[in-house]
Amino acid sequence: MIRTRFAPSPTGFLHIGGVRTALFSWAFARKHQGKFVLRIEDTDLERSTAESLKAILDGMHWVGLDYDEGPFYQTKRFDRYAEVLQQLITAGHAYYDFTSKEELEAMRQEAEAKGEHFWYDRRWRPDLGKSLPSVPDGIQPVVRFKMPLQGETTWNDLVKGKISIANQDLDDLIIARADGTPTYNFCVVVDDYDMGITHVIRGDDHVNNTPKQINILLAMGAVVPEYAHLPMILNEKGAKMSKRRDAVSVVEYDQQGILPEALLNYLARLGWGHGDDEFFTMTQFIEWFDLKDVSPSASRFDHEKLLWLNAQHIKASDNNRLATLILPRLQQYGVSKVEQPALNEVIALVKDRAQDLNQLADECLYFYKKLTPTEQELAKHWDADTAARMQRFAALLQQLSQWDAESIHALFAPFCEAEKIKMGKLGMPLRLAVCGTGKTPSIDQVLALMGKEEVLQRLQHS
Ligand code: GLU
Repeated sequence: MIRTRFAPSPTGFLHIGGVRTALFSWAFARKHQGKFVLRIEDTDLERSTAESLKAILDGMHWVGLDYDEGPFYQTKRFDRYAEVLQQLITAGHAYYDFTSKEELEAMRQEAEAKGEHFWYDRRWRPDLGKSLPSVPDGIQPVVRFKMPLQGETTWNDLVKGKISIANQDLDDLIIARADGTPTYNFCVVVDDYDMGITHVIRGDDHVNNTPKQINILLAMGAVVPEYAHLPMILNEKGAKMSKRRDAVSVVEYDQQGILPEALLNYLARLGWGHGDDEFFTMTQFIEWFDLKDVSPSASRFDHEKLLWLNAQHIKASDNNRLATLILPRLQQYGVSKVEQPALNEVIALVKDRAQDLNQLADECLYFYKKLTPTEQELAKHWDADTAARMQRFAALLQQLSQWDAESIHALFAPFCEAEKIKMGKLGMPLRLAVCGTGKTPSIDQVLALMGKEEVLQRLQHS
């Protein structure tokens, strides 16, 4: 049984890179009929916040990455960490270190003076035949993990290939602080073990933690999971994404009117591919996904491509669902009633024109509220004769017994002929007079859908 997890720390928003990590973990579990676990790594009490936790849970819900187990909270598992800690100490895999702050500082300065990397000198490590210093008074010890001193730690990363680290380059890391609280790498290991995680899929900023975690797992007698480290997502300029310059939080995509399935489709394509397929559903993604097709190098965010995909997903989306999604946006413009014409019918007419939900709302707006044409539009399409001409056309519309696009369309050519004008001299002014904007689909269809009464009333006041 494949078991994967997403393990965010609630110290900020739900990052777009985090969503892609979650997506790949989720898809891998779904593909293999496994389980996907959500774990909240909240042991950093100073940086973890309730708002951030909410942002993560809301974000996961919004994108639709459903988890089978969790959320599990590390802060609720301190007893378990203490238990494993004791087991490791008893088995000789971890030891108390009574080094004082001053001694550590002296070690650091000595290394600095020699221009060397600072290492804890393992003075409290109980190796065979070695005598330890006598336990000082008044010092609360930390607990350190006894790293192997020789050999290598190797794993076959499912994205990056074989990675080997010489054990002599690994420190005897602290797994419990002086106040007894467990440290990050230790909690992750205990959790991955207890939660039966078979595949750790995470960002490649964790590659350096992996050899440490593998050694602790081995000491615990655990089966070491597979690891897959995903490369970073860079911004369009090829730099690390930053909160100031780039949309990094998933909420920003919601605000930009991106559909969650479009965002997932886009993120799936970032660093993974299936032939030339660009537009696909999550069902297809799950079917096609394989970690061996994930690229080991970083990928660049391309906003234009995201918008293009979003437009495809808007076209494919159910109109009633789209209506629910854009209603709050229309309400912000002061529109409260969307029955006449029915919003889903309006959406059916205009959805091809929108790349995001904000644009879609804009495309629907003039059906419920006449807009004010811009100066440029008026200058270009409205002259001294136009108002009277619109009234003459209104009179023809008034007489129509059948109100549909075809019947309206049939009026255009004879009217233009009688007025001795080109079609453009009717279409654009008519749009401005009825909708208040020149940017609409075919005007006969717009008028048909808007309804006779509303159209005539708007023409009267144009
Ligand atoms: N909590 C870590 C993070 O947010 C993830 C740890 C992991 O996936 O092992 O970066």
